Amino acid sequence: QAKDAGRNALRFFDAEMASAVRARVALEKDLRDALPQGQLLLHYQLQVDGAGRATGAEVLLRWQHPQRGMVSPAAFIPLAETTGLILPIGQWVLRAACTQLAAWAGRPETAQLKLAVNLSAQQLRQADFVAQVLQVLDETGANPQRLKLELTESMLVTNVEDAIEKMQALKARGVRFALDDFGTGYSSLAYLRRLPLDQLKIDQSFVHDVLSDPSAAALAQSIVALAQTMGLGVIAEGVETAEQREFLARVGCHAYQGYHFGRPVPLAEFEAQTRALRAVG
Ligand code: C2E
Ligand code: MG
Ligand code: MG
Ligand code: MG
Repeated sequence: QAKDAGRNALRFFDAEMASAVRARVALEKDLRDALPQGQLLLHYQLQVDGAGRATGAEVLLRWQHPQRGMVSPAAFIPLAETTGLILPIGQWVLRAACTQLAAWAGRPETAQLKLAVNLSAQQLRQADFVAQVLQVLDETGANPQRLKLELTESMLVTNVEDAIEKMQALKARGVRFALDDFGTGYSSLAYLRRLPLDQLKIDQSFVHDVLSDPSAAALAQSIVALAQTMGLGVIAEGVETAEQREFLARVGCHAYQGYHFGRPVPLAEFEAQTRALRAVG
């Protein structure tokens, strides 16, 4: 009987695995069509300074699938990475962001806005990554100083030397770099010092708990101090309440992103948000 139960459990497990694999294969097939069929779009999430002025946005990828609806990047970015689809998708995001920057440059009220674009490890690892970015900047006419590329600590664990070289080459042309989700990875301070970064992004898990968890508060405060010591900018992500913002301001963080200021929204809405902020300020 125990044997039977074991066999049944195994059969059940097999069936579950098979259906998970089928679901993945179906999602992968759909993802291949997403870019050519125009199902990918960008949302913009406001970033503000200490005075509440709009400084720009983080560009966040969205997949509007005809049947599945809006698919979260958490659900498809990992798949895009393992299938290599992140390369054409990442290129498309970069080009769209730079095209937007170039369009904004023509209007005084939007000319100062910056865009932060998320990179995946695979993109950075390409031998011609620097040339690709420079070509997109060139072809779109975007000002490199308005472009910020977001990296994560995990992307920098292998091949740091190669990453540093590429970052330096782009930095020489004016492109900025931010370290996303900072505090959740395992950067050593020794190599953090060597990375040509401009900004640390305090991970939203710390920001979420600053008022309820003393260790999260201490960590957020330490990251701000670390950024200051290293001469880097610092921005908090995932700011959802005025109280969290106040805490962050008290410990010296004067740049924010989060639902308290604005959710990721389509371009027209983002532009309306920045207009409303100017009207207030
Ligand atoms: P991320 O770069 O850390 O982006 C921040 C995420 O936090 C976004 O989720 C954003 O919608 C969410 N968020 C912002 N403010 C708040 C808040 O106040 N509260 C809460 N609970 N969440 C907030 P999203 O858009 O689902 O993106 C998830 C992740 O997908 C991103 O994390 C990024 O790692 C990845 N991603 C998004 N777009 C791209 C892209 O174009 N390329 C690559 N390689 N990855 C991307
Ligand atoms: Mg990011
Ligand atoms: Mg983040
Ligand atoms: Mg993240």
